[in-house]
Amino acid sequence: MNLCRYDDDGMPRWGLIEEGHVYALEGDPFAGEAREAGSLRPTLARGPLVGPVDAVRLLAPLRPGKIVCVGRNYAAHAAELGNEVPTEPMLFYKPPSSVIGPGEAIELLPEMGMVHHESELAVVIGQRGRFIEEANAFDHVLGYTVALDISDRDFQKKDGQWARAKGFDTFCPLGPWIAVGFDPTDVRVTCRVNGELRQDGQTALMIHSIPKLIRVISRVMTLEPGDVILTGTPAGVGPIRPGDVIEAEVEGIGVLRSPVIALDA
Ligand code: MG
Repeated sequence: MNLCRYDDDGMPRWGLIEEGHVYALEGDPFAGEAREAGSLRPTLARGPLVGPVDAVRLLAPLRPGKIVCVGRNYAAHAAELGNEVPTEPMLFYKPPSSVIGPGEAIELLPEMGMVHHESELAVVIGQRGRFIEEANAFDHVLGYTVALDISDRDFQKKDGQWARAKGFDTFCPLGPWIAVGFDPTDVRVTCRVNGELRQDGQTALMIHSIPKLIRVISRVMTLEPGDVILTGTPAGVGPIRPGDVIEAEVEGIGVLRSPVIALDA
């Protein structure tokens, strides 16, 4: 089952996608605490038909709270940038204001340097927790979506930390929807630029697994419904330029398409 948000004459609304059609969703999937692992709360119901997916303007599938990211979680990607494989998950944040939805443009400003694409599997938290054990970690997950962790390598090097390099508005495309009841343990993560395959990895190759990430992060901070974890990127990152179209895909979820534009602000 896929959950989405869509534009209803200027109003964002929750939707369900079934067999290529969007239906209104009665209720808020992040409201309240009680829900069963990997499924929607029973108080949520399918509403009226909105239209075929292709005819509906999808928005980012949620407005996240925290966006907690993991650096260097695939050995081949750590190696391609000349970095050691970390023994513990290396955590950083992207601000919620960096999120854009499917089809929205990544904006490159004049002061930016070398900006790279990073295709990633994103975990959407559905149930609050602190000190979560690995055995229970998936109980706290509502579902999964596709993310691009857009990164300015020059600012990353210059600043010594990554708030600016990864925090610009439009640097966190998310979507196109949230896959509920999805098994993320061994699926393909790819990135295409203008149709050319650039990144290609399997989530089974993550150094730190999703349950481990949830355990480690939730020892530091309470994970709340609507928080998102970006799980790291496989090898093959590379530069993006105005006019490019980036397609991030997680097998079994969908394709997140983001055009790139220059913003002369
Ligand atoms: Mg990343």
